[in-house]
Amino acid sequence: MIGLTLKVGIPRGLLFYRFYNLWKTFLEELGLEVVISPPTNKLVVQRGLTYGVEEICFPVKVFLGHVLSLKDRVDFLFVPRMVSFYKGEYNCPKILGLPDLVRNLFGIPPERLVDGEVNMRETGIRGWRKGFLELGRRWEKNERKILRALEKAEDAHRLYRKELKRGVFPENFIDQKPLCTPQEKKVLLLGHTYLTSDSYINMNIVQKINALGYGVITQDMVEEQKIRNYLKLVRKPSFWTISNEIIGTALAYLKEKDPSVKGYIHMVSFECGPDSLVGELVERWIKREKDTVPYLRLEIDEHTGEAGLVTRLEAFVDMMEWRHARRESYLSSPLTS
Ligand code: SF4
Repeated sequence: MIGLTLKVGIPRGLLFYRFYNLWKTFLEELGLEVVISPPTNKLVVQRGLTYGVEEICFPVKVFLGHVLSLKDRVDFLFVPRMVSFYKGEYNCPKILGLPDLVRNLFGIPPERLVDGEVNMRETGIRGWRKGFLELGRRWEKNERKILRALEKAEDAHRLYRKELKRGVFPENFIDQKPLCTPQEKKVLLLGHTYLTSDSYINMNIVQKINALGYGVITQDMVEEQKIRNYLKLVRKPSFWTISNEIIGTALAYLKEKDPSVKGYIHMVSFECGPDSLVGELVERWIKREKDTVPYLRLEIDEHTGEAGLVTRLEAFVDMMEWRHARRESYLSSPLTS
């Protein structure tokens, strides 16, 4: 087998959209060939639904479809147990249990499943490094080499996150899809990145909003420090990092009232526990706020139809236009004594 490069597969789902460049660079620096499953399509979803048990959410079912499309084409499957990537917080339990789900459903032997634990909850950056050392040891005994691979991966991750901050979507970066047309009026699209970035499961929502004359801002485009500062307004933040990012972003826009943002859309997964809690909170704050802008909660699952989504988006755009026109006409009315 000398000279044969080992292949490691990364399923395109869930935290892939966050850590794409980090994971890919880390594995490549360790000498592996990285294979990423194709963009989500009908077959991937159907396969995921076949294996997905009832209680799991749609994004996890889609993830399983991606595992199926990869598992027989690679030497290893990369499904790290990402317990926590922010000190003091967790990821959703479904994400924590992914390696077990994949192993049990598909009978992947331990030597092929790369499921090391990355956990920053207690020890912060030390837990992060420990996790990547464990992941890397599968192929490399020299710790210094693994840490060097991690440093390069972190540089690649910073670059990726910087691109997202300037308005690039994961699919633009990963698949070189064309960028949306810049627009003056914007919509804040809240939601887990694996919903807002997978254009098959979100039925091209970003492009649809763009075609209706609006740009899209997501929480990936907001500075982390700003999100964390606004999160302090909440007496008891959530346990889950991504939920906290959604809350902090919603509060930042609610309080700062960026005049270019004409509406908020929160995309949630129908069977998601964290989303049901956060969705309620965000909706209440928006309704309570003075001079607020229109809000739409979109629940996505395997039964969501594209025609229904288009109708709701068009109605939402009408509402934003109506509000905007009404406010402008009010502001420009001549003063009467
Ligand atoms: S946060 Fe919600 S959508 Fe995401 S994996 Fe957990 S249950 Fe599923």
